Amino acid sequence: MFCAIVAGRAPASIVYRDRATLAFMDVNPVRPGHLLVIPAAHRAQIWELGEVESAAVYRRLPALVSALKAAMTADAVTIFSLNGRAAGQTVFHLHFHLVPVLAGDPLLRRRGRRVTFRLVQGRGARAELDALADRIRARLADGALVSGHAGSTP
Ligand code: AMP
Repeated sequence: MFCAIVAGRAPASIVYRDRATLAFMDVNPVRPGHLLVIPAAHRAQIWELGEVESAAVYRRLPALVSALKAAMTADAVTIFSLNGRAAGQTVFHLHFHLVPVLAGDPLLRRRGRRVTFRLVQGRGARAELDALADRIRARLADGALVSGHAGSTP
């Protein structure tokens, strides 16, 4: 299904694309701004992804998450990926969910050692998703959003 989006045969509110990676709005957002990041190549789960493909997708995450956080004026961003039917995966093309979170409206609640992760999906109208994608893309274009650490190159 996501291959049709990569190929431009299915509608999507696209935030970012390059040869290896695509980021677009989830049609059933658990919070406004809920973004999906996928490898362009069809890989059902993360264990099918090669190291080079993995690096190509992963290296885009900090900028995408920063742009999402800024665009939605979120306090935090939750990132998760369901891999395999038993984990609850419903679309079998690997994807990372990026969900902006506001303080006081968490996805995850803790009571002692009892941790619950509660997701309630809404329905995004295409015009609304397009407007959010534009907003996130504009922050992505700012570029200055990722402060980052230089780190070391292997
Ligand atoms: P998962 O349950 O982790 O496999 O999540 C699949 C996600 O894909 C759900 O959050 C759906 O709302 C989302 N989704 C399914 N079809 C589309 C689509 N055509 N465009 C955007 N998001 C989609």
